[in-house]
Amino acid sequence: TVRTRVAPSPTGDPHVGTAYIALFNLAFARQHGGQFILRIEDTDQTRSTGESEQKILDSLRWLGLEWDEGPDVGGPHGPYRQSERKGMYAQYAHDLVEKGHAFHCYRTSEELDELRTARRAAGGHTALKQSDLALPADEVEKRRAAGAPFVIRMVVPEGEGVCVVDDLLRGTIELEWGMVDAQILLKSDGMPTYHLANVVDDHLMEITHVIRGEEWINSAPKHKLLYQYFGWEMPVLCHMPLLRNPDKSKLSKRKNPTSILYYQRMGYMAEALLNYLGRMGWSMPDESEKFSREEMFSNFDITRVSLGGPVFDQEKLSWLNGVWLREDLNPEQFAAKYQEWALNPQYLMQILPLIQQRVEKFSDVAPLAGFFLSGMLPIKESDFEHKSVTLDDAKRILQFSVWFLDTESNWDKDHLFAQLKQLAEQMGYKLRDFLFPLFIAIAGTNQTVSVMDSMSILGPDMSRARLRHAVN
Ligand code: ATP
Ligand code: GLU
Repeated sequence: TVRTRVAPSPTGDPHVGTAYIALFNLAFARQHGGQFILRIEDTDQTRSTGESEQKILDSLRWLGLEWDEGPDVGGPHGPYRQSERKGMYAQYAHDLVEKGHAFHCYRTSEELDELRTARRAAGGHTALKQSDLALPADEVEKRRAAGAPFVIRMVVPEGEGVCVVDDLLRGTIELEWGMVDAQILLKSDGMPTYHLANVVDDHLMEITHVIRGEEWINSAPKHKLLYQYFGWEMPVLCHMPLLRNPDKSKLSKRKNPTSILYYQRMGYMAEALLNYLGRMGWSMPDESEKFSREEMFSNFDITRVSLGGPVFDQEKLSWLNGVWLREDLNPEQFAAKYQEWALNPQYLMQILPLIQQRVEKFSDVAPLAGFFLSGMLPIKESDFEHKSVTLDDAKRILQFSVWFLDTESNWDKDHLFAQLKQLAEQMGYKLRDFLFPLFIAIAGTNQTVSVMDSMSILGPDMSRARLRHAVN
């Protein structure tokens, strides 16, 4: 039976790209009466968090992407979280060492930098092979005896030649071995890298089809070689085209919101967002634009995926969402959905306690809290007029904040406050003055709750989008 999987790394907000890949894996599994598995790839323990994992699970479930096996629902091939499978991977790496397909490498990071620099200067590939990494036997012995840390790397072909990989959408692809380095499989702390854990788990979980983003094509030679070394049958590979910004560059949060939570907060219907993701590189046989999950599944054919980069365009999504709102909901359903989106107790309890101290009547609430229920705010230049902040200052503050927050992944309110306070000092503004344009961009006014509270409730993508909207 067909078994597919989506394997997100819980290192941030749930990405629309993850939902897109999950949708195509689910569609393929359902079309073949197979199973769809969710596996959490959290081997990077410094970047992975339980909070991010929970948001990924919640978002995929909100979209209606149900998995048959996964960390929360269990299944016969568990555990489904790589950190809980940690003990299993080392043995596989050691087996490869014994068979001569992998080796211990005692090179320090300084030595690796030197090797790469020398290689670049010589104008060659920077891929390092076993022979490049080798140390004299007595040196290896010395380091081993001193208990120096080592990693396990895989042996890869040296010299000219290509690796031939079959891809369900692209046919045969040739990738030069010259570009492939002796990949680390097991880190010095005993944790596997993505490549080892991914291949071992796909095998043990009996995955038959690996449908993933195009960005992983270059990993395919390493994976193919690992399957050969282990003597395992390799799953069918299928690399999906990456989602793009309207300017055709790779969809990235620096240009476009990428978090599913943003689309939720903007008030898109899950059905419409899923429908839109289904149109990324794929279309119904009759080219209809609006279709349900079930309609997609019963008409699904992966060979109809087109490789031209699909553009994720928020304006088109909004149009499609409007069609869903008008055609699929009667007034009672529309009211119920709106209530669920805007007035659900969980969201209100984040907002109302902050408002309660500032109001005299219920009718004072909406003017203070309306921006929590909005998308982009209708702000104008005159809104930024202030006795001690010029318009130019305001623009600089907003622009620097956008740049700064684009790279900030910790959205905790106290952390944000400390960081922005520091930015204000570096830019030479009093905190109050610095925060004024942020208030306008985020809330439309400074007569409301603290801008840090607002940003932490609205989330990173909605906050960034409003700041960017205010800059433009
Ligand atoms: P950003 O550029 O916005 O920071 P990113 O590339 O850093 O995004 P990751 O956190 O690395 O995003 O990726 C999260 C998940 O989303 C991964 O599974 C990745 O494959 C997927 N993904 C990221 N970008 C795209 C894209 N353009 N199209 C499809 N999937 C994507
Ligand atoms: N953990 C990888 C990711 O985040 C999985 C890639 C794959 O599907 O092999 O995209």
